[in-house]
Amino acid sequence: MSEFDVHDHRHELKQLRDSGRTSLWENREEMACPVCEDVFSRLFLTRQAGTTFPENDGARFCLLRDGDAVYLFRH
Ligand SMILES: [Zn+2]
Repeated sequence: MSEFDVHDHRHELKQLRDSGRTSLWENREEMACPVCEDVFSRLFLTRQAGTTFPENDGARFCLLRDGDAVYLFRH
């Protein structure tokens, strides 16, 4: 599993929301999820100890933990 940094993907990801400790990104370029390697639609990034996931419509998620950050990829 590879490390992931949104700053390495400025052109592929469009930021939809940023609340400081959490942010929401849209995948504009059919980038592959670093966990399962399928294309994902959105990425939710949190550095909070406890986070309630955004509402979803039954989509599949992958979680990637990196230090104090958790990356939630929605398919
Ligand atoms: Zn995935």
